[in-house]
Amino acid sequence: VINDDIFLARVLNINGKRVIHFQDITPFELYKQAKKDFVSNVSHELKTPITVLKGVVETVEKEEDINVIKDFLKKAKKRIQQMDSLINDLLILAKLESKEEKIQKKKIKLKALINQTFEDLQHIASEKNITLKNNISSNFTVPVDEKKFSILLKNLIENAIKYNKQNGIVEINVKKSENYAEISVVDTGIGIPKDSLPLIFERFYRVDKSRSRNVGGTGLGLSIVKHITEAHNGKVEVKSEVGKGSEFIVKIPLE
Ligand code: ADP
Repeated sequence: VINDDIFLARVLNINGKRVIHFQDITPFELYKQAKKDFVSNVSHELKTPITVLKGVVETVEKEEDINVIKDFLKKAKKRIQQMDSLINDLLILAKLESKEEKIQKKKIKLKALINQTFEDLQHIASEKNITLKNNISSNFTVPVDEKKFSILLKNLIENAIKYNKQNGIVEINVKKSENYAEISVVDTGIGIPKDSLPLIFERFYRVDKSRSRNVGGTGLGLSIVKHITEAHNGKVEVKSEVGKGSEFIVKIPLE
């Protein structure tokens, strides 16, 4: 190991001379570590709801009061939804990483796609009386894979709602710059601390683990956003101020 890099040394015999050959295997080691971390993260994320479910089943078995039983079943339902979201996100990531499904770009009307996403998320926005604003003109089109891009929009807009305040606002804007469409999702929420900004696109990273779980987060949403953006040869950026809100900007090439 030299300065955190890992080399594999081999002694070779070349034309009668002994040569020491060093191969840099750092990426492979990092890959092995990332794989280990991933498996341990997934196991941990599944272990917690399963422990709760075990407790619920044991209590319900012995309990006779129907109201207590109903209360416990509510808890079980929440944990089942949590595992369901995690498995869904893992399947989306696995598909994106296997590259087995190619990106199928078509010119999509952005306003309509966002309106559809707003409709799907209206129930969680209403819980906190959040206003959803779609500021995109009706005929603006972007060349994207409709299915994947709608997952990206859903993840960003859902976060903008989940980490927002009561009576907050979520606004979607778009502008053309050079050969890119810059789609921005702005919220008036809790914001993200500066030192967390470089980490939020990492799998399972959350600023506040218990808050994220409470609002139904898997910790995978933004890494899916990053994957989908990069699959379109685009870039995603974030600006945020604690207590004021955040802005996520997705830059998608227009050609
Ligand atoms: P999660 O499922 O926990 O929401 P994500 O990958 O979507 O996971 O986001 C990672 C973390 O980034 C979240 O747990 C949250 O702490 C932070 N975050 C993401 N979007 C926002 C936002 N719009 N406002 C404030 N914090 C956010």
